[in-house]
Amino acid sequence: MFKAILIEKDNNGYHAKLTKLDQSQLPAGDVTVEVSYSSLNYKDGLAITGKGPVVRQFPMVPGIDLVGKVIGSQCTQYKLGDLVLLNGWGVGEKHWGGLAQVARLNSQWLIPLPKKITLKQAMAIGTAGYTAMLAVIALEKNGVTPDKGEILVTGANGGVGSFAIALLANLGYNVTASTGRLTEHQYLTELGAKQIIDRQELSEPGKPLQKERWAGVIDCVGSHTLANACASTMYGGTVAACGLAQGMDFNSSVAPFILRGVTLAGIDSVMCPYAARVAAWQRLADIMSDSLLAKISHEITLEQVIPTITQLMDGKIRGRIIVDVNR
Ligand code: NDP
Repeated sequence: MFKAILIEKDNNGYHAKLTKLDQSQLPAGDVTVEVSYSSLNYKDGLAITGKGPVVRQFPMVPGIDLVGKVIGSQCTQYKLGDLVLLNGWGVGEKHWGGLAQVARLNSQWLIPLPKKITLKQAMAIGTAGYTAMLAVIALEKNGVTPDKGEILVTGANGGVGSFAIALLANLGYNVTASTGRLTEHQYLTELGAKQIIDRQELSEPGKPLQKERWAGVIDCVGSHTLANACASTMYGGTVAACGLAQGMDFNSSVAPFILRGVTLAGIDSVMCPYAARVAAWQRLADIMSDSLLAKISHEITLEQVIPTITQLMDGKIRGRIIVDVNR
């Protein structure tokens, strides 16, 4: 038997609970992992609260991130005792995920834990840090170098936003953080933000072309914020669209793209191919320090997941939450 969060949808409605499951109930897969840590992401919040149609089949064990040790393998790539990492691939949505002490997975979804990163550090980073890294790589690929000017990061206090600020600052970029929590000024400054703006400046419908300010943008928020970010991006700049914390809508015009040559780069961590994942995690392993990860993350137990998730959905959590599934 092992402990897990289980989401069910039945005549009593949609509900999540901490429960015990038998290994015989695990889904099919060629690798079984003893999970050490998982983490909480916005998508886990949508899944656990039922606020978004994330879970595709029931019952479901949520958790889009996990790290742990291989305890069963029917593949050639991983052997018993190997340390592995998983982010995305629909795990926690349509295949049982990481908020459990054991997971059975498809070996194609796993990557080896990078050498410089501990199990716990991997979940401090999690999908949020890895997505932020993909977004930074997208800016780099489009020629947005530190000398080009200010980079805007929206949803600054969230997991992706916190990592985007820290990564960009570490690479020498001049970062402006947009937040609804100006009281977190010190935290954002410590991560490396040079300027902090109120997210209200970007959250209402705006003109299709605005004063050119950003050389690049990492947007976690979508909706009018993304439209305004595109409208105020400098000639030749790039906007990396990662998230939808404000909304999924995007009421913009083609003006920034056809008059200023702005590039809108889509970031998807879920189905991102193996080589790009490994490359992103290698960069993270090279850049991230223990002190920075300690600043961004804090740890909870599996028992604390359900009480904590409402705070995450209410935008009250700063940075990242690591879940020790064995405590
Ligand atoms: P978090 O919940 O940790 O952070 C979201 C942040 O967005 C909040 O902390 C808040 O920052 C800001 N925010 C919340 N509500 C609003 C609002 N109504 N208007 C404007 N800003 C708001 O989420 P994550 O960082 O984990 O994820 C951020 C987004 O990225 C989510 O939409 C998530 O689904 C998406 N995502 C996408 C991935 C991909 O592969 N493309 C992978 C991972 C996440 P503040 O308080 O500073 O304003």
